[in-house]
Amino acid sequence: MQFIDLKTQYERYKKEIDQRMQAVLEHGRYIMGPEVGELEETLAEFVGVKHCITVSSGTHSLEIALRALNIGPDDEVITVSFSWISSAEVILLVGARPVFVDIDPETFTMDEKLLETAITKKTKAIIPVSLFGQMCNMEAINAIAERHGLAVIEDAAQSFGASRNGKKSCGSSLIGSTSFFPAKPLGCYGDGGALFTDDDGLAESFRAIRTHGGVRRHYHTHVGTNGRLDTLQAAVLLGKFSYFKEEILARSDIAERYNQLLNGNITTPAVANGNTHVYAQYTVRTEPESRAELVQRLRGRGIPTGIYYPKCFHEQPVFEHLGYSYGDFPESEKASREVLSLPMHPFLTPEEQQFVADQLTDIIKKQPVQTGGTIHR
Ligand SMILES: *Cc1c(COP(=O)(O)O)cnc(C)c1O
Repeated sequence: MQFIDLKTQYERYKKEIDQRMQAVLEHGRYIMGPEVGELEETLAEFVGVKHCITVSSGTHSLEIALRALNIGPDDEVITVSFSWISSAEVILLVGARPVFVDIDPETFTMDEKLLETAITKKTKAIIPVSLFGQMCNMEAINAIAERHGLAVIEDAAQSFGASRNGKKSCGSSLIGSTSFFPAKPLGCYGDGGALFTDDDGLAESFRAIRTHGGVRRHYHTHVGTNGRLDTLQAAVLLGKFSYFKEEILARSDIAERYNQLLNGNITTPAVANGNTHVYAQYTVRTEPESRAELVQRLRGRGIPTGIYYPKCFHEQPVFEHLGYSYGDFPESEKASREVLSLPMHPFLTPEEQQFVADQLTDIIKKQPVQTGGTIHR
């Protein structure tokens, strides 16, 4: 059993992907070839925003967003402490200071009720993370941001294709940032990412920074970087994209089946009102004392799992100088000790899911240390 089955996906879409890649090999425009522009138009339309600017990764996209907003030393940027490291490392990378807020225990995303207390005179932007595949409470976050004159960059690396109250992820705040890392809901065959915005000025800055700070050759207006998406990766994404909507539906059906199979035995993922979820991860909560053993025993029975994420940012050495300590973000800390992600991809069969659920339930029942009632509900 695969945790994420990219091989089956390739076999199913081989014709389209091969054709698209072959076309690039034949025209030979490996950098900023026509597929890049075609992909940007396709994705901008899908998200429902004016501009899509593809970039070399979902980390680079966040960094380029911060640079385009002129965020640097003496500025503060608010994000969560429970996410993939990119969400916060980019803040340090541009010289600004990350400020963390805790998450909501049901959705694992930023608790917007705590956001306002983290805002200071130095705050310039908020990076809410649409973790595991569902969007944050963007309406509330946008409203707070507007009141304080702050930019909102949705880190939608895990939520591309999700929506909230009819608005697509990446298209419901000033800037949306996503990743095409192979394991993400829409993945390429290497690194890739994209930025989305309706703002013409920001779009121009993103394009400039992506290509060494200039849109025209040999004329540099911004401090730029080499942040382009390879034409070959754009071709892979175009080859896959025609199946993306189907895949999102399949993911949702698979999650629904897991929910039914696991119901009553373990805390299954909650979906917030108005949200559709793309399940970049299908994440349950376990007993923290027995999680490591559970992982090992599942592995022994041929079931791969993942722990996203075992340590909060404020527990990481790279953020030590910020002065946070254990206990500052209790829900993030609790999540990091309890979460366990199960195999999830659009090609998971009902039989495989039944097997996962049976084994998981069987092991949990046999856990001698499991005396508390917190995972039963
Ligand atoms: C994967 C991920 C990123 C970074 O994307 P890359 O393309 O791997 O650089 C950023 N934020 C979150 C939440 C992610 O899951």
